[in-house]
Amino acid sequence: MSDALTHPRSDDLELLNPGDPAFEAARPRYSGVGDPAVIARPATDAQIVAALALARERGLPISVRSGGHGARAFPNPGGLVIDMAAFDDIELLDDGTVRIGTAATWGEVAEALAPHGLVITSGDTRDVGVGGLTLGGGMGWLVRAVGLTIDNLEAVELVTLDGRSIRASATVEPELFWALRGGGGNFGIVTRFAIRPTRLAAIVGGTIRLDPSDLAAALTAWRDAMRQAPDELSATFLSLPAMGPGVPPSAQIIVCYAGDDEAAGRAAIAPLLELPGVLGDDIARRPYLDLVNPAMTPPPVRMVGGHGLVDLDDDLIADYVAAVAGFEAPTVASIRYLGGAFGRVPAGATAFAVRDKEAMIFRLVMLPADAPDELAAAAAAPWERVRTRISATYGNFVEAADPALLPLLYPPATLERLRAVKREFDPENLLTRNHNIV
Ligand SMILES: Cc1cc2nc3c(=O)[nH]c(=O)nc-3n(C[C@H](O)[C@H](O)[C@H](O)COP(=O)(O)OP(=O)(O)OC[C@H]3O[C@@H](n4cnc5c(N)ncnc54)[C@H](O)[C@@H]3O)c2cc1C
Repeated sequence: MSDALTHPRSDDLELLNPGDPAFEAARPRYSGVGDPAVIARPATDAQIVAALALARERGLPISVRSGGHGARAFPNPGGLVIDMAAFDDIELLDDGTVRIGTAATWGEVAEALAPHGLVITSGDTRDVGVGGLTLGGGMGWLVRAVGLTIDNLEAVELVTLDGRSIRASATVEPELFWALRGGGGNFGIVTRFAIRPTRLAAIVGGTIRLDPSDLAAALTAWRDAMRQAPDELSATFLSLPAMGPGVPPSAQIIVCYAGDDEAAGRAAIAPLLELPGVLGDDIARRPYLDLVNPAMTPPPVRMVGGHGLVDLDDDLIADYVAAVAGFEAPTVASIRYLGGAFGRVPAGATAFAVRDKEAMIFRLVMLPADAPDELAAAAAAPWERVRTRISATYGNFVEAADPALLPLLYPPATLERLRAVKREFDPENLLTRNHNIV
């Protein structure tokens, strides 16, 4: 192609141009949206510096891709995508930490660690990338036992926008290290993370099936049980729509007891089996990997989402249940119970400051891909009562890059601190395809 980009000084850096089959294959995997002008695939820190130089010379907006699952939120039309695919190594170090390339997926991490009896708390889906999830926080099946992924982070390797390679930690560039734990992709091009794993040969967990006809009663009793649960027990409530003929709407609680003593796990889970509307369960001692969902192809739909970090008082539960049932379209809803180790991390310790909320709630309505804005507004309307109660949310689930949302992601003191780090490490604000700290 006549306007194809090549590297100005060396051809070491792999560049993919539109029309190149590898370009299409490398498009952000989950969303499929966005039309960058060029994709750069560095394999070394020096090549990252070269990609940054190219973007500067051509005036191209920069975005960074690890697993590609956040791409729907941060498209980069006409820009340069730094695709970190070459940084996907997973290495168990002598000091007991695991050094992980940013483009590894959480399924790959779980598989690599399983033979060693180790686990890193991550998300619930195999093909989500290590980079985006970790920089935003990382909320997974062990959230009550060991906190967020960032709460287990020891160091972050990155290339700064002025071309330096830094290994940020509690002792080297500690303020940058603080910002990287929840501040997203605002401060440099991250290559690798060092994360402290949890020794866990197996978990006790699985799915408890519920009668979906009285969700309010089930959710209220579930909340009460979780308020008494040990930290080892994490649980997520899930409500699913009908999945074709013969598969009616369903409700379930997915539980994970972070311990391999089956009797102790079953004792911790027992109160949940007494909840109103329990239909059955498949609780067992099993590998952690069993709880990590297979890779997903995103459905070709227009999604209308809502989420937030909340306390589960009775009114909130009533409004939530009304919102979940409030619109005639397939709706997925979940509530992840928090507290435990997540809640004990002081607000100032990481840039993920909101630690005092009881749960993360989520509702997703799936409309036809060509649904007009009026239909999307109608789908959002039942969530309005819940939305007015939400004062904080988790950036990794926010599907829009809107500076007006920053106060929901960061309390004022955190935002001020993040701005100071941004001024130092990205004074030109070159990294904007993120929850941009402006
Ligand atoms: C199906 C699905 C399930 C999910 N489940 C969970 C879950 O259980 N728990 C949870 O916490 N989250 C979950 N998420 C949200 C997920 O954490 C975010 O979408 C996250 O951004 C995905 O990371 P990624 O590397 O795959 O995405 P990418 O699109 O590659 O990255 C997202 C953003 O992160 C930044 N970034 C990524 N890599 C780098 C880097 N190397 N250097 C600098 N900046 C970088 C960039 O701003 C980029 O736009 C889920 C998302 C999906 C789609």
